[in-house]
Amino acid sequence: MSAIRIQGVNKTYSGKITALKDINLEIEEGEVFGLVGPDGAGKSTLFNILTTLLLPDSGDINIFDMDVIRDYKAVRQIIGYLPGTFSLYPDLSVQENLDFFAVMYKSSIEENMSLIAPIWKQIEPFRDRKAGKLSGGMKQKLALCCALIHRPHILFLDEPTTGVDPVSRKEFWDILKSIRQHNITVVVSTPYMDEATRCDRIAMIQDGQIIGVNPPQTIIDNFKGKLYTFKSDNIFSLLKVMEQCPLNCNYYPYGEHCHIAFYEDMATAMPQFEQFLSEQHQQHGEITAIQPSVEDCFIEIVTHANGELT
Ligand code: ADP
Ligand code: MG
Repeated sequence: MSAIRIQGVNKTYSGKITALKDINLEIEEGEVFGLVGPDGAGKSTLFNILTTLLLPDSGDINIFDMDVIRDYKAVRQIIGYLPGTFSLYPDLSVQENLDFFAVMYKSSIEENMSLIAPIWKQIEPFRDRKAGKLSGGMKQKLALCCALIHRPHILFLDEPTTGVDPVSRKEFWDILKSIRQHNITVVVSTPYMDEATRCDRIAMIQDGQIIGVNPPQTIIDNFKGKLYTFKSDNIFSLLKVMEQCPLNCNYYPYGEHCHIAFYEDMATAMPQFEQFLSEQHQQHGEITAIQPSVEDCFIEIVTHANGELT
């Protein structure tokens, strides 16, 4: 059964800024579904519409066969939402925040302790601390407990790990995977492409449009180019001279490295490329073939969508 069905959703702000363009998605019950895209792509707008906080300009959305506009009250009962901005009461203690959310949803902490126990265990030592005084990772764990305390059928998390340290980020994803054992569908957005591989399926979103939906491995398998990485002594100079490269390729900085995807027969293209770099007096490390990451795939799809490669 599909948990969420989104058909033809559009949203503009003030009639001018287009935030979402013809979004169509189907999310299955029990999935960990990721929405991946850069800042301004439209992730939060979509979350706010799915969680009944914002009206779309057009389109239909069903959550377990309920209409998010007509049946918004019933929808709110079965969803949990962890919004992108800190949503708890900073002057209430950890315990008071959890009590508050339990009462608000007419639920009780005891009733749902089994669901939140693995997370609660980690924050319980700080139960008397004010929520505003917790670390970033701890705040998110508390927010997660509060969003789960009424045992929702679907949990929405908008960039839950943005600004959280790498160890807490990993812990947080382990928790998300465990939530799924309780048959809760998880919809999570992230700008971190590496995190996307932890989802069952991901939708890539750019400029308000969905540009691909697939399991992470399928997205990686569908990469069309032949991808290489190398280090350059001067990445800025390299990127400048690459504008003159006669080969059909796509290049971009990737951390300390340059990634380059070729759309050529490599038997002839690689010697040509090495000759080109040498003619341009570019010092570089070994050029190594690598497997693409989800980020490489995102870049390839966006570049193809813009028609830059033929
Ligand atoms: P993301 O969450 O992926 O960063 P958003 O949904 O917040 O993307 O934003 C999508 C687009 O809509 C962006 O261009 C953003 O500037 C714009 N936008 C978001 N919220 C508002 C708002 N309340 N008023 C006007 N424009 C907005
Ligand atoms: Mg956002």
